[in-house]
Amino acid sequence: MFCYSTKNKYHRIQLKEAILQGIAPDGSLYMPENIPVLSKDFLETLPQRTFEEIAQNVIIPYFGDHIPSAVITEIIREVFNFPVPVVQFSDNLFVCELYHGPTFAFKDFGARFLSRVLSYYQKDQDQEILILVATSGDTGGAVAAGFHGVKGIKVGILYPSGGVSPLQEKQLTTWGDNVFAYEVQGSFDDCQRLVKTALTDTQLRQKFKFSSANSINLARLIPQSLYYFEAYKQMGPGEHNVMIVPSGNLGNLFAGILAKAMGLKVKYFIAACNANATFTNYLNTGVYIPGPTVKTLSNAMDVGNPSNFERIDTFYGSTWNNRLRADIKSYSISDESTLAAMLRFRADYDYLLDPHGAVGYAAYLKEQPTDNQYCILETAHPAKFDYIYERYIQLPLDIPPDLAKFLTKEKKSMVITSAFAELKEALLSL
Ligand SMILES: *Cc1c(COP(=O)(O)O)cnc(C)c1O
Repeated sequence: MFCYSTKNKYHRIQLKEAILQGIAPDGSLYMPENIPVLSKDFLETLPQRTFEEIAQNVIIPYFGDHIPSAVITEIIREVFNFPVPVVQFSDNLFVCELYHGPTFAFKDFGARFLSRVLSYYQKDQDQEILILVATSGDTGGAVAAGFHGVKGIKVGILYPSGGVSPLQEKQLTTWGDNVFAYEVQGSFDDCQRLVKTALTDTQLRQKFKFSSANSINLARLIPQSLYYFEAYKQMGPGEHNVMIVPSGNLGNLFAGILAKAMGLKVKYFIAACNANATFTNYLNTGVYIPGPTVKTLSNAMDVGNPSNFERIDTFYGSTWNNRLRADIKSYSISDESTLAAMLRFRADYDYLLDPHGAVGYAAYLKEQPTDNQYCILETAHPAKFDYIYERYIQLPLDIPPDLAKFLTKEKKSMVITSAFAELKEALLSL
């Protein structure tokens, strides 16, 4: 599989190289050159397929030319060892629970797969890989959990100081060993910019073999397509399935676009955004104006300049065209509406959505559902946000023991400003 970069169609490299680099030297993102289309037979028999079969059919066309199928199957078994249930709440409303992985958020799909693929690439290499990742909440934890203890790989996690939940912070600062946490006095967009700058810095590139574990890395996006197939299968195939995607950096949405390009029948997607409305505004006006990050209750989606916008723009031919607008709708949801949606869902269905899923439900309510079937991707376990329930709706939550165990561990992070020189110095001393 060849890839090209969003800024230069003629800059072609193999998928393996694109994954190892994370980002193109000019700072743009890699795209798969030929998105594989799955056979009609496979798509028609989807309801009878296991998750493992779906994973093999989706992943092998990308990776099969350089990783043996038996190894891919082994990786799939090891990485996706948790359920992906779809719960039906009414005739036309479903929720796909993506939080049954080890860090209780959907980021486990991409981060675990990436860690196994990189460690496969790394197995005969001497030079250490340094993985850098910016996190708005859940990526850091999933990446740390996926890479902790993996030989030949170090991980640097950058997160906005005060911008992640207390539990999320513990999930990314308590690992030690090969995992280093940098607490940035700035926003998530600052963290993202620092990572991008580091990855393209000549001096750092001489010292390290670098990669990124953000959704700028294709090895994170490709496995995220899987649960779109799984959700469709469990909803019951049809022509009117709409996927509601709580969105920040737009990686999850782009994985859905890949699934659709592979042949999955998704009528359209709804990008459910919080007050960070850059993408919603773009769909409404055709003008892309990145804004400063706004802090919200759905903190993992607090992104003012979503990096995967570049991929969506390239995929749709760099224009605000009808195909784009037929495939994707978007709503921007306030914190107030998020809380109201959370309470309403709980009252109607006795089920607690996390703040990100609640943004999805608020988008569903704005949509005034028609004869479509809607599936909200529930991206995190509500217990990760216990402080929100306690503070805003006076609802104490039970925290699952596997999550609670992080709270007793000691936080270890290095505080840095958002000036690149500080990060650079820290990394050079690793
Ligand atoms: C990362 C994250 C999102 C946003 O996903 P993107 O791929 O960045 O759009 C939504 N919800 C949760 C819980 C997340 O961790």
